Amino acid sequence: MIRLKDVVKSYKVGDNQINALNGVSLELEEGSYATIVGPSGSGKSTLFHIIGGLEEIDQGEVWVDEEPIHQLKDKELARIRREQIGFVFQQFQLLPTASALENVMMPLLNFTSSKTLRDKAAAVLERVGLGDRLDHLPSRLSGGEQQRVAIARAFITEPKVILADEPTGNLDSENGMKIIQLLEDFHQKDGGTVVMITHDLNLAERAEQKISILDGQIVSHDRRILT
Ligand code: ATP
Ligand code: MG
Repeated sequence: MIRLKDVVKSYKVGDNQINALNGVSLELEEGSYATIVGPSGSGKSTLFHIIGGLEEIDQGEVWVDEEPIHQLKDKELARIRREQIGFVFQQFQLLPTASALENVMMPLLNFTSSKTLRDKAAAVLERVGLGDRLDHLPSRLSGGEQQRVAIARAFITEPKVILADEPTGNLDSENGMKIIQLLEDFHQKDGGTVVMITHDLNLAERAEQKISILDGQIVSHDRRILT
């Protein structure tokens, strides 16, 4: 369960204050599949960073799976990010000097013995269809393949929640659909919660929940049952 209560977040830029979120309240049950849509600058990525414990808030409360994210110290936040949350970004954010396998191992390095971790990373790369690309550097992978490595890296910690910020934004529609399929499988087969920011209204229409943001406020939250 993800719960935000009256969240306010502003940034100081020089003498100016930018109000990125102006009182956001939101509830997503465990196992939700929700998309967030809204114009550029409306606060979508800010919301993503706040749910993921990557950014502090000015006011309000943020709860992820009964953990009070707004009250936790860095070390505890790091643990929650590692144990509960997988992140996927528009620009993939892979380490260019590390192989596909090593990139996927990254979140659990120092936390799992290396043999177990290698086997696990190979298994998740197999799951995303890249079992034959383990030793490739990102520069030797297509954009779609790099994003599947990023998805595998998110899966490796067996998270309850995957947060994805425009995960298909840099991909053509065929590769984009492969990513969506992996996220939908995570939701349907693993019972995971997916929160995905997207500019693609067709993708938002496919989802069970569509949250629209405008000027740092949620202006609609549509829920529907898909048949
Ligand atoms: P886009 O669709 O372009 O990615 P967004 O909805 O994700 O936009 P945010 O990145 O959440 O928008 O930004 C919301 C507002 O906060 C914008 O006015 C942005 O300029 C500002 N902002 C975001 N991050 C920072 C930061 N680190 N420092 C200063 N201002 C920021
Ligand atoms: Mg953004």
